[in-house]
Formats: sequence, C-alpha cells, structure tokens
Amino acid sequence: LKSSGNDPYPDWKPGEPVPYAALCTTFSLIEMTTKRLIILAHASIFLRQVLRLTPEDLLPTVQLMINKLAADYAGIELGIGESLIMKAIGETTGRSLSVIKSDQHEIGDLGLVAAKSRLNQPTMFKPKPLTVRGVHQGLLTIAKVQGHGSQDKKISGIKKLLSAADSATAGKGTKGIDIKKDKGGPSEAKFLIRFLEGKLRLGLAEKTVLVALAQAAVAHEAALKGGKSPSPERLAEGESVLKQVYSELPSYEVIIPAMLKNGIFNLSDVCKLQPGIPLKPMLAKPTKSITEVLDRFEGKEFTCEYKYDGERAQIHYVSPDSIHQYPNATATLQKDAKGLSSIFSRNSEDLSKKYPDILAKLNTWIKPGVTSFVLDCETVAWDMENKKVLPFQQLMTRKRKDVKAEDVKVKVCVFAFDLLFLNGEPTVKKSLRERRQLLHESFQLVEGEFAFAQHSNTNELEEIQSLLEESVKASCEGLMVKMLDTEESGYEPSKRSRNWLKVKKDYLSGLGDSLDLVVLGAYFGRGKRTSVYGAFLLAAYNASNQTFETICNIGTGFSEALLEELHKELSPLAIDRPKPFYEHSNVPKDQPDVWFEPRLVWEVKAADLTLSPRYKAAAAEVVGTIGSGDGKGISLRFPRYIKPRDDKKPEEATTTRAVAEMYRRQEAVAKESAGKGGVD
Ligand code: ATP
Repeated sequence: LKSSGNDPYPDWKPGEPVPYAALCTTFSLIEMTTKRLIILAHASIFLRQVLRLTPEDLLPTVQLMINKLAADYAGIELGIGESLIMKAIGETTGRSLSVIKSDQHEIGDLGLVAAKSRLNQPTMFKPKPLTVRGVHQGLLTIAKVQGHGSQDKKISGIKKLLSAADSATAGKGTKGIDIKKDKGGPSEAKFLIRFLEGKLRLGLAEKTVLVALAQAAVAHEAALKGGKSPSPERLAEGESVLKQVYSELPSYEVIIPAMLKNGIFNLSDVCKLQPGIPLKPMLAKPTKSITEVLDRFEGKEFTCEYKYDGERAQIHYVSPDSIHQYPNATATLQKDAKGLSSIFSRNSEDLSKKYPDILAKLNTWIKPGVTSFVLDCETVAWDMENKKVLPFQQLMTRKRKDVKAEDVKVKVCVFAFDLLFLNGEPTVKKSLRERRQLLHESFQLVEGEFAFAQHSNTNELEEIQSLLEESVKASCEGLMVKMLDTEESGYEPSKRSRNWLKVKKDYLSGLGDSLDLVVLGAYFGRGKRTSVYGAFLLAAYNASNQTFETICNIGTGFSEALLEELHKELSPLAIDRPKPFYEHSNVPKDQPDVWFEPRLVWEVKAADLTLSPRYKAAAAEVVGTIGSGDGKGISLRFPRYIKPRDDKKPEEATTTRAVAEMYRRQEAVAKESAGKGGVD
C-alpha cells in the first residue's frame, strides 16, 4: 500500500483539524479486509498522514482508533446501553422508537441502523463537518455526565454528534444501497454509534494500533530527515521501543506528546515507569501439576510463594518532598499529609475509595529513606482475632466505593510480592531475587496490615508438595512458582509469562485452572426458580476479532438468594436480540430466553472440555482436531459458578485462544495416559 497517488486516502490541509470522515474512510478500508498486514498498513498510513498534516490531533486519533477516550486509570467508561442509543437515533432522525426497534430487529447492528436512519433523513442544511478532536471531545462529555438527569444529557450529547454525522457511503448516491451488504460504508453515524457501544468491530486490535503508530512515527521521522523509507529492521526497532515503553507506562496521554517532542527512538529515556501511571500486572501461566512445574523450570533457580486469594492491588506512593519529580502523579494519586498514594486494580481501576484503611496506615510499613514506590500485592481479608487469612468471600462483602476507614468491618492485610519502582528508579529489569531483597529492605511487617508473601526457594518435589498443602491450610489458593535469577526473572508488565506459573490446590481434578467468562444470556428457571433466571449462557472472548464466543450453559453453584440478586442485576441489561459480535449456535432450541449487554464476568470451574456444535468458543482454532468441524466449538462439561470477577472487564475474560490451549493440553494428557494404559 502506498500513501500517495490515486489511493483512497482522503487529504486535508496541513494544520487543519483531522476530519472525522477521513478516519471513517480508514475504518471502512480496514473493515473490508481480514488480512492483518493490510489492516496494519491502513492504520499506519493514516497515522502517518496525521503526523504529517496535524500532529496535534495524533492523540485523539489514536484514542478513537482503540475505542478508548482515555487511559484505563482515568476511569472513563462509555459502553452506553442499547435503549439509550436507540432513543437518540430516533430523536435525531425523526423516526419513531418502534421503527428504530424494528430496524434493529431486522439488521441487528445499531451502527447500521443509525447509518440507515441518517440515509433516509432529508437534510435541510449541511451541518459543519465533524472533526476527530470534536468527536473525541463530544464523546468525552457524554462519558463524563453523571448524576441527576444524566440520561437526558447523554441523549442530547449523542444527538448533537449524530446530527452532524454524515451518512453517505463512499462514492455512492444514497439510493439503492443495501445497508447490510454494504456494511454501511464509511458512514460516520455507524462508527459513532459503534464507538458508543464500545465495539468498533473492525478487526483492529489495540496492539495493532500500537505497532501502526510505531511504524508511522519511524517513517515520518525518516522522511523529515530527508531519508529513504526506513528498513524493516529500523521499523522493528521503533516497534520494540514503543511496545516496551507502553508496557511500563500504558498512557498515550503521556507517551504521544513525549514522542512528538523527542522522537520515537528517544522515548525510553523520557518515558519510564513512574508512580501515578498504573501498569498492567504480570500474569501467570496455569499448570496442572507440580511435576509440570519441575519440568518447565528444570535446571533453573525458582521460588514458590503462597498464592493469596484476594484482590490484586498495585500501590503507588510519592513522599511529600518528592512530589515535584512526578508531574503525572498529582492528577491520579490521592493527596494527604503523608504525600501522594493510590491503589489500582489489575485493570488499572482506582481502588483508593475502596481501601482508605490501607492508605491511612501506609506510612507505618515504609522504612526510613523510602521516598517513592510501586508495589505489587494482594489485599486479603484478615481475621483480627485469630490472626489469619480469611476466604475471598469475606473480602467480597466490603463495599466497593466511598468506604470510610473508621466504618470498615472486614479488615484487610496487604501481602506484598513484588516491587516495581523504588526511590525514583524502575526496578522491573532487576532479577526477582534482587527485587525481593529491596522489598524486604524497604518495608516492614505490621501484623494484620502489611506482610510479605510467604515463600520458599525450594526445588524439591516433596517440599513443594507440603508447601502447597500448607498454603491451602492457610486459606490460600495454592502456589505461585516464579523464576528467581537471571534476566528471565525480570518483571514483565501486562504479560502472561512462562516465568510465573500458578499451581492451584485443585489442580489434580478438573482443568487446572478456572475460567473467567462473560454472561451473554439466561434461561428462566423451572419449579422454584420460575421468577428468576435459573441458568445462564456464558462466553469466552476472541481477542483477534473482538467477538464473544459461547462456551456453556451454567446452572450450578448458585444459591437461591444469589439467583434473586443476579436477576435484579441482569434484568436492566436485557436486550432484544444478540449483539452482532456474539457467536452462538443459531438452532432455535439452543437460544436463551433473554440476551444481555456484555457486562458481567464470572469465574467458573469445570470438569473438562469437550467439542459441541451448540457452542462456538475457539471453533476456528480447533479445526483439524479429531471430532471438530461443522463449526463445533469447545464447551465446558459440568461448569460450576465460583464467584463474580468485578475486577475484570468483558474484554479481559478468558480468551478463546487460552481455551484452545487448555483443550489441546487436555487432549495431549489424555493421549499420554491412554499410552500408559489409562493410568495417570
Ligand atoms: P488470570 O488472568 O491469570 O486468570 P486471575 O486474576 O484470574 O488471573 P489467577 O489466575 O487466579 O488470577 O492468579 C493470578 C493472581 O493471583 C494474581 O493476579 C494475584 O491477584 C494473585 N496472587 C496471589 N498471590 C500471589 C503471588 N504471590 N504472586 C503473584 N500473584 C499472586
């Protein structure tokens, strides 16, 4: 693909705001292909164009491309419900709600419904064209509306944008367009509505935008210097800089201005992990047995830590004297006499209002000389009387917001297991042994409030076995086994790494790991359960094409009281028909009674995995496996509800790729035991 000549790329005058139409044309080109490299090329050519003509719009352009208005820690949520959007489409285009609903019933895609509604609407005057920065600002205003009358304000915000949105499909008149076949073309109305729904569905993954941005920046900088097109090696170098910087500092708000000022190749010097910008935590790979751990870590030094069953917490702190060194921290961290501090969840949500009791005592665990840090920990419910860890269920009873430190009934203890930043320096590149030493040197135990994760550096099978048993007796979930020395033991933000393995207590039975699944639908109960939902349809997330693929029905593990609560929680999320990004069998008897917006994530355990035509999880990935074909997906046998995962967004649910991996491992184990005469 070239960025000049008679290509379809729209141009605009240098310095002018980027037209939203230009972005939508790019979206439409991306939507028309499934080839990853072409998608990447479209995205990077467009970003290069923005860099060349209107670099000040690069940030909102990237944000609109990744369907996020701000970094995760800013807590800005869009995900506007269908009913509100339908109302706004109706009111903007002068069509009745019932017509919009019937269109939605027929087309099944609100973006296309909006495009069609705009097409049919006679325009009296030509509205001022939308710009990328204008759309970004408008959407931000909608997202931030809160409190009394917020619904109406949101609707009027949507109407404002939608009435200025163009409906025309590329190069065609408005007559005779088959909106479904045409996918709605580059219609601004379509992409606006999809953005509001939280899914652009272009097949443009967030990671691809990051790579596209790196390529655009490298090519642009080479052109500025009058050089030739950059070599593949140079492009790869730029990519690796940006990826590494973004993993430690996942904030385009900080990175993009720094890149525009200093150039992409100097980014690692100016953009480093810092207090105030939460990073995505390092994650572990599941294992099914201690012997598997020993096989994987053979010949390497490793350590086993208790796996506490609470909530992941990343604690950031800056002392009063050091605040001036961290300009980004004042906006995100809470300020008090002790300095700046906050607690972030595993998906960078600010938990400070949930755990004011932790922040109030934080100064008691810091040793003298510590001026700033980022800690990786688990918050766990604590039994004050018996001085021991309590099960996760106790932690769940705590309020999530506006907790007053003095009202707290369920006490929590922080168990620290890693140190990512200390006194002005990131520590992530150090070995775990070094980080652990710094952690112990910089903090002190405060009974029932702060402790270090229990650990042992053994590699003896029996010792690990007994440590696992002890951990379970201490109300933990099992062990985390981590590489201890060498560079392999560095902290890998946002990565599910082979250098961290989790061994859960029930590894011997079942799958070795639970799954976190999204609730897409429900079935009304029978007998005692007729007034509530008695079973639910769950799905895993396919990150490569941003769809939710169904994996099982679940009706086990719920108390009557819980079912009532779930009915209350889920009823407002009901929608008329499945979203176009849900993949499920279309056989009538397989359909749930109610469909929902994708919001809730539940942890689920199961006996094993099997192939089924009814469910679609990882169907594309298992093609070629014995028994697959005809669109059969992987499904869970004997699924059981464990707990809600409020700390995970639907897009953070177990991926279909992970499900496929579990299935392959299960099949490999089955084959192996068959070879051994069926005895494991
Ligand atoms: P995943 O996405 O890996 O499924 P999860 O949040 O569902 O993550 P688990 O798979 O059960 O959690 O295990 C990893 C989690 O265990 C971490 O995110 C952390 O919250 C918790 N944890 C408890 N103790 C430790 C420890 N010593 N080291 C690392 N993580 C720990």
